[in-house]
Amino acid sequence: YRAKSAGSGLASYDPEMLTGLIQRLELEADLRLALERDELLLHYQPTIDLADNRVVGFEALVRWQHPTRGLIEPMQFIPMAEATGLIAQVGRWVITEACRQAAAWNAEGAEPVTMAVNVSVRQFDRTDLASEIAEQLTASGLPADRLCLEMTESVLMTDTEENLAQLIRLKALGVRLAIDDFGTGYSSLAYLRRFPVDTLKIDRSFVERLGEQADDAALAETIVQLGESLGMSTVAEGVEEYGQLAALREMGCNEAQGFYFSHPVPADEAHRLLLEGAAAHRP
Ligand code: C2E
Ligand code: MG
Ligand code: MG
Ligand code: MG
Repeated sequence: YRAKSAGSGLASYDPEMLTGLIQRLELEADLRLALERDELLLHYQPTIDLADNRVVGFEALVRWQHPTRGLIEPMQFIPMAEATGLIAQVGRWVITEACRQAAAWNAEGAEPVTMAVNVSVRQFDRTDLASEIAEQLTASGLPADRLCLEMTESVLMTDTEENLAQLIRLKALGVRLAIDDFGTGYSSLAYLRRFPVDTLKIDRSFVERLGEQADDAALAETIVQLGESLGMSTVAEGVEEYGQLAALREMGCNEAQGFYFSHPVPADEAHRLLLEGAAAHRP
């Protein structure tokens, strides 16, 4: 890409583009401060076991309570955090807080829940993730098998050998590993078999095609069968309607998440869901 002609200067640029650039630079500077000012927070979305409708876990989803812009969604700042390297600090904060919260809920003596945390591919090349996570587990007291790390297929496809070594070290700690948005990337089955993955999360785009507008159940079903044959569990993302839930249960999908059950909610509300969920299934 080149500007139209040399020396045309900023005048040839779209002013909106310049405004966008300035806003991004401001947001980046603000994110550095956000970490110091403790402006990040987690919302939690429950994961439901399709065999008994119980809440068996939560996914931690980061938000940013910006002092002037309000609550900012992760898609508005995670890509920037990845590009600038700030993801290392953001990621560390997320894992610390999610482990602390899960350990606190599990200490109450209810059915222990599993906490899922999203990990960016950038956290693999910038940090020694396994030692960091070992420290966080010790500090929080959360048993390793109650932590699940969600990563996209890009972790399998880029720097494959290095990432495989990291994942083997993570697996050795006892944490669970899940592939997020499964089916949207281009990972080969040969790669998938080599990686110590426990769970495939079926991307929302495949779940959308189930139920009412049931035009295409084949893709979701293929992923469920793939999980079965590789010894991996399957979790469906983005379940919004009863019909989708019924179809997934029919295919043998293990767990589900989505607005049908609950949006991601603040910690106190998530805790209430957990207590209600447990109460509803007491004999
Ligand atoms: P994801 O990990 O695939 O998370 C699922 C996203 O889908 C969440 O959006 C969730 O609110 C949304 N969702 C859940 N159920 C439904 C549903 O039934 N219908 C629809 N339409 N959407 C649903 P959110 O919280 O905005 O997060 C977006 C993405 O940002 C996440 O996708 C994840 O890739 C990333 N992200 C979130 N938190 C973190 C984090 O702590 N670290 C990193 N590296 N990435 C994160
Ligand atoms: Mg996720
Ligand atoms: Mg996902
Ligand atoms: Mg997604």
